[in-house]
Amino acid sequence: MKCELISVGTEILLGDILNTNARFLSKELAALGISLMYQTTVGDNEGRLKSALDTAFTRADTVILTGGLGPTPDDLTKEVCAAYFGKRLFMREDILEEIRAYFSAKGLPMPESNSKQALVPEDSTVLPNKNGTAPGFIMESGDKKIIILPGPPREMEPMFRECVVPYLKKFSCSVIKSHTVRTFGIGESAMSERVSDLLESENPTVAPYAKDGEALLRITAKAESEEEADRLISPLLEDIRARLGCYIYGIDAQSIEEATVSLMKEKGVTAAFAESCTAGLCAKRITDISGASQVFHCGIVSYSNEIKSKLLGVSSEDLAHFGAVSDIVAAQMALGVKNISGADYGVAVTGMAGPTSDDPEKEVGLIYIAVTDGESLYLKEFHGRKNGSCRDYNRFVSASNAINQLRLTVINSPELRSEGNIKEFINSYPRN
Ligand code: ATP
Repeated sequence: MKCELISVGTEILLGDILNTNARFLSKELAALGISLMYQTTVGDNEGRLKSALDTAFTRADTVILTGGLGPTPDDLTKEVCAAYFGKRLFMREDILEEIRAYFSAKGLPMPESNSKQALVPEDSTVLPNKNGTAPGFIMESGDKKIIILPGPPREMEPMFRECVVPYLKKFSCSVIKSHTVRTFGIGESAMSERVSDLLESENPTVAPYAKDGEALLRITAKAESEEEADRLISPLLEDIRARLGCYIYGIDAQSIEEATVSLMKEKGVTAAFAESCTAGLCAKRITDISGASQVFHCGIVSYSNEIKSKLLGVSSEDLAHFGAVSDIVAAQMALGVKNISGADYGVAVTGMAGPTSDDPEKEVGLIYIAVTDGESLYLKEFHGRKNGSCRDYNRFVSASNAINQLRLTVINSPELRSEGNIKEFINSYPRN
């Protein structure tokens, strides 16, 4: 079976709503082992919808449409699809009664326009809608199939799972299973180089991609059963783990903060954050994770130089001489917050989030991160975006880097370079 999706709705084309139906259905079809080759979005327009169907059927035997089943004249998906297969629409009194009952349960009279939703294409299978008024339909003509579903996700998703999945299963004899390996601190191209030979593999396939400053690898296997897919994936996953080592922070849904919190819980350690450019984002992301109180000690938003000195003990001379965005200031912030909190680790972030820089010698996107356990110092300098809408991105990625630097310190990663003893680093910093 080869499938295509057509999302119907002018509001999707205008950007008023996000096409989450396409995402949902793509994932569901992949899990069923059904090949989805193309997705199309088309407005509520008879001619364009017909032409989208024409095109889809040159490439696929099954077309799933969502949206345009409402009661208003511009909702015409069912009418166009019925005409496409040369079918009439007829009134189903039992469905009309159900729609009336739906409204009366809400204490409302049924608007006359809703009777349109009880029109059914001849020879179709009707898919009941438990969460709304528009039923869905399955229509067959020769080897072609059209599946029509309502637009609202809360109606479409249960209808798909309850009625369409059992129908589609009859045509699929395989499952597709995917895992996402999430890495941090290694760019997409460096990661791809380490696994370049695996990228040629056909089943499972291995595909790299980048997202929010992270590099990810998606491994996808097609097999006759879930167990068989697991059997294909697991040696490959082991191989990838060996090649990417500590850069991997999780497999599948985990975020960097989730992985770090669970690691710290496991080790029974705590951390405190001193944040300048991220202004509390590290603290927010860590405490978004349930159970963070076991590992999160405190966060200090030390935005001004005055607070960096007063609260964290950063040298005013160093601030004046090297600027707030410097490795020496990051090191003192990390030590300061570790000392006043008593946490096991002090983490500091200071940087130029942009879009403008208030220090002519520091470019936008320059970020310093420091982590200390009170003895050793682990510094990281990195360069985020310099222009465009860089502020949000730089702050998000700075927080991700700070959390990751903490994770690497906690696991004592061989990828980390220590600057040696933090007090010696601060005392013997070249100041001339
Ligand atoms: P209704 O009976 O509510 O009119 P419908 O089947 O005619 O439903 P549409 O009118 O196309 O569907 O869309 C109704 C609402 O459903 C949209 O305003 C939107 O909130 C949601 N919706 C429609 N299509 C999608 C989509 N592809 N992804 C996410 N939401 C969608």
